Amino acid sequence: NKTISLKERPSGKPTLNNFEISEEEVPKPKDGELLLQAKYVSVDPYLRGRMRDQKSYIPPFELGKPLESGIIAEVLESNNKNFTKGEFVNGMLQWKKFQTSNGNGLNKVDRKHAPLKTYLGVLGLTGLTAYLGLEKIGKLQKGETLLVSGAAGAVGSVVGQIGKIKGCRVVGIAGSEEKIDRIQEKFGFDAAINYKTTTNINKAVAAACPNGVDVYFDNVGGEILDAALVNMNRYGRVINCGAISLYNKTETPTGPRVEPLLIKNSILMQGFIVRDFVKDFGPAQKQLAKWMEEDKLTYLETVVEGFENIPQAFIDLFDGKNKGKMIVVV
Ligand code: NDP
Repeated sequence: NKTISLKERPSGKPTLNNFEISEEEVPKPKDGELLLQAKYVSVDPYLRGRMRDQKSYIPPFELGKPLESGIIAEVLESNNKNFTKGEFVNGMLQWKKFQTSNGNGLNKVDRKHAPLKTYLGVLGLTGLTAYLGLEKIGKLQKGETLLVSGAAGAVGSVVGQIGKIKGCRVVGIAGSEEKIDRIQEKFGFDAAINYKTTTNINKAVAAACPNGVDVYFDNVGGEILDAALVNMNRYGRVINCGAISLYNKTETPTGPRVEPLLIKNSILMQGFIVRDFVKDFGPAQKQLAKWMEEDKLTYLETVVEGFENIPQAFIDLFDGKNKGKMIVVV
């Protein structure tokens, strides 16, 4: 049985040396427990935050202990009356090929409704983040302009598509020509900006959003957020969902002072953590699934093969190697 632990805390961008793969016995499930085999592992930018020794909304990973993330696993044995051998479950599980669980926090997933992997992406936390961030903070109205960064990623690609479903002008920001073509062709974005080749991102946003920006869904923070803020309309809403451009910084960079802008335009800027809205997950997932059935919502996945490649897949998120949800198939 293989396990991946945090060997040392990364400084700057994570490297493979920060992780350790070790072997252990396959555990035996006790009374009330299940034996699970990992099938699909989600790697996510927020895990970088848990690798720092700092207080946050979720405790940091401990050195020498297995890492964990959202995992779809198969029940191989069950001594728990709520689960049956052969079922699939989704939950926050350890980076181990085999592990036991008492079943707490696990949700059953049914591959008859949708491919199992989608419960880590469009029907899982990243889809829910897109939906609930827009719903709870964005309060998007028909005819408005929605700007989204990280637009070709797991969250961003769903945000943009929901914007189109709601009848908005949708503009995406992403880091390659292939990605900006893809989000327009596959997801129906009205315009897209390559932040890596654009020399003046403020002007590029202004040009792509001739009526200004009503809602900005921020997945990246930093200079792209600064550019979005100067283009916001009165009563604009900014959803601070992620700040991946800052996650590997050893010192937090400072930016322009934004308070005059926020005041002048009565802008709402609010941090968002999807796990604060667990009670809304059921209806939100139902809506996402319905849009998929109606062919209004689609998705991309980058699927990496092999349990040992989980750390590399995670590192690759910071180089933009994924299109859509990054998933490791074990
Ligand atoms: P993505 O699928 O979007 O993958 C990460 C992407 O970020 C990469 O593909 C890359 O795309 C982009 N990126 C990497 N480095 C930078 C950089 N320096 N500047 C700009 N873009 C960069 O990941 P997710 O969809 O899972 O997550 C998106 C964001 O949402 C993250 O910030 C994450 O932390 C956050 N999040 C927040 C949640 C919450 O509850 N608040 C829940 C889930 C996610 P490119 O090629 O375009 O650069």
